[in-house]
Amino acid sequence: MTAKAAIDLTGGRLADDFARPITYLRISVTDKCNLRCVYCMPEGGLAWLSRDEILSYEEIVTLVRAAASVGVRSIRLSGGEPLVRRNIDRLIAAIAAIDGIDDIALSTNGLLLDEQLEALIAAGLRRVNISLDTLHEERFASIARRPGLDRVLAGIDAAIARGLYPVKINCVVMRDRNDDELVEFAELTRTRPVHVRFIEVMPVHENLDLQRAAYVSADEMLARIGEIAHLRPVPGPSGNGPARYFAFDGALGTIGVISPLSHDYCERCNRVRLTADGRLRLCLFGDQHIDLRSPLRAGATQDELVALLRNAMHIKPERHHLQLGEASSRMRAFSEIGG
Ligand code: SAM
Ligand code: SF4
Repeated sequence: MTAKAAIDLTGGRLADDFARPITYLRISVTDKCNLRCVYCMPEGGLAWLSRDEILSYEEIVTLVRAAASVGVRSIRLSGGEPLVRRNIDRLIAAIAAIDGIDDIALSTNGLLLDEQLEALIAAGLRRVNISLDTLHEERFASIARRPGLDRVLAGIDAAIARGLYPVKINCVVMRDRNDDELVEFAELTRTRPVHVRFIEVMPVHENLDLQRAAYVSADEMLARIGEIAHLRPVPGPSGNGPARYFAFDGALGTIGVISPLSHDYCERCNRVRLTADGRLRLCLFGDQHIDLRSPLRAGATQDELVALLRNAMHIKPERHHLQLGEASSRMRAFSEIGG
């Protein structure tokens, strides 16, 4: 009997009340960030969590082990900015060694990627999403409120050169700030094996005015890109994402769009999120969550953690009800909720 079969027979896989298997865990390893993107964080930063509020690597690994024992297969490390947390490669190596985990990905703003890439790959990282909203330095400094475009581009080049697959570029599209770069970004996919994903800007408390003014729908993005050349629908590169993918004929990469406000993805939702302070959030746009840190620190066994995960499945909502220009009553900065 294989290890995987044993896991299935003894544990049974996590599934929510709508029969959706939960196989994907997104982990925010820190709330802190070295950028201040206008759509994500206030310029002055947030009321940062203290060190002891944040889960240790050992605590994260314990939770991942419990989740893997009931069917979680994919892990994404995110933040805040995950690469600002010290020795993240050690966490990756520890997660990679967990039975049942067969996919570890990272979402990063790319500033520290080039310098950390070898250690990350040695630890077991195989794919990466890099956020980049503009290809122009002055704009970068105004959108991210810090300089650093050259370092992000170096990170993207290094990830491609070292054979990470897929390399996805996440671009939040904002009217009158960077929507005139849609075509420039799309053109990158002709000659480079990158998967550029355009994201509709989502509402969080701090950015409601920006979100209302800057929203560009995914359909408009596709129409504008489609004006320069035919876009063929294609299957996406490997991954669990909510994107729809297209490609120019003969291109090395693909173009994706992510419409977080559309409910289409909810039906296929396979994911839950762990915040940096140890709450399991059942939906990005909802307040439903359970605290895992307290039981963990009180010495919960793996069986007890698994029971908590199973119970949490009952409060995963069928879909979110967020609308353009609204924010959930308690929704705060995206980074804080572990995007
Ligand atoms: N710091 C890392 C980064 O920027 O990739 C990881 C965390 S960040 C919160 C994850 C993704 O969420 C990024 O691609 C970012 O662009 C996106 N994001 C953050 N706030 C958003 C918003 N209000 N609307 C749409 N996407 C957002
Ligand atoms: Fe930092 Fe990522 Fe938020 Fe930008 S989107 S402020 S890089 S966490």
